[in-house]
Amino acid sequence: MSHENQAKNQPLGGNTMPRFAGPGTMMRLPAAASPVGLDAAFIGVPLDIGASNRAGARFGPRQIRAESALLRPYNMATGAAPFDALQVADLGDVPINTYNIDKSVAIISAFYDTVLAANCKPLTMGGDHTIALPILRALARRHGPVALVHVDAHADVNDEMFGEPIAHGTPFRRAVEEGLLIADKVWQIGLRGTGYAADDFDWPRRQGFTIVPAHEVWFQSLAPLMAQVRAAIGATTPVYISFDIDGLDPAFAGGTGTPEIGGLTVPQGLEIIRGCRGLNVVGADLVEVSPPYDPSGNTALLGANLLYEMLCVLPGVPVR
Ligand code: MN
Ligand code: MN
Repeated sequence: MSHENQAKNQPLGGNTMPRFAGPGTMMRLPAAASPVGLDAAFIGVPLDIGASNRAGARFGPRQIRAESALLRPYNMATGAAPFDALQVADLGDVPINTYNIDKSVAIISAFYDTVLAANCKPLTMGGDHTIALPILRALARRHGPVALVHVDAHADVNDEMFGEPIAHGTPFRRAVEEGLLIADKVWQIGLRGTGYAADDFDWPRRQGFTIVPAHEVWFQSLAPLMAQVRAAIGATTPVYISFDIDGLDPAFAGGTGTPEIGGLTVPQGLEIIRGCRGLNVVGADLVEVSPPYDPSGNTALLGANLLYEMLCVLPGVPVR
């Protein structure tokens, strides 16, 4: 890695400071003001003015950080030891303009340009799914078009919402139009629910996307699917993971804005992320956690764990 000679930041341990106390950063990592010197960073994007139904994802980063206080550094299932090799910190929140979505999108993409210029991989806590568009814009400027593993109940390829081109249901339409994606290396996993028309999923299929509706993978391991994804993407193509928490069933992740029944399970979500190991993952996001609809904190706890799992599959993370 580019920063291999530095001492590595570690999450503050529960035997040093009680887990209910200490810093409010992701995993109680050091806060950083600059991405320079970091291999990866957690970043909050507290935007929810793109939401069509229940808002509240603006509180997602803060609540995900709060629930992340329980996370320990080693991945007991996969053996991944991210903090042994990567320099990781919490870069705080992007100062979006909560009165203006267009200005917010510009602020976000400029912020990510700076992060990527430092060779730092962004792990983003949303925020609603609108934020994937400005992140993909910055990624494409840095890497060219990227492959995409997109977990969601929704395809998010609407042409417009209430006449608006930028909202949480449109980012992947805009991304295709702008050439930000390698369209035949896009997987949308977990799609379901009621639609406006029978052909709602035809547009992404025509672009070359692979659609994996939730009901087609009920009761199944997704490890074989992810083997297909890895074979198709290959080890060098830049790939982005965009994980809408509503891809999982509301039984597990009800604290979200647009829940749909019959969703993926938590183990399936873990299989998807863990199945990205070996890919050239250049960034990832976890979006649509809405704390006002998450009174137990379980959805935010799930989000925190999924972000940790994303960190664990970044290139350069050793397995012990
Ligand atoms: Mn979405
Ligand atoms: Mn969704």
